Amino acid sequence: MYVPDDPPATCPACGDPYDSVSRHAEGFVANLLDNERYRRVCFYPVSDDGDPAFDCYHHTHAQAGTET
Ligand SMILES: [Zn+2]
Repeated sequence: MYVPDDPPATCPACGDPYDSVSRHAEGFVANLLDNERYRRVCFYPVSDDGDPAFDCYHHTHAQAGTET
């Protein structure tokens, strides 16, 4: 996985600000049940030099609107 060269300002999946983004061309496991930093990860399909891939947008609890 790597970080895209030209990431968007906001998450293309939900429109919220995000903390970090990573691009994956292979499968992986995302388990946020015990993650204290991130509340949500959104997945957005992309093309990686013609191959299918997806970007993972990490939202903190504050960015996901769950902290007061
Ligand atoms: Zn999102």
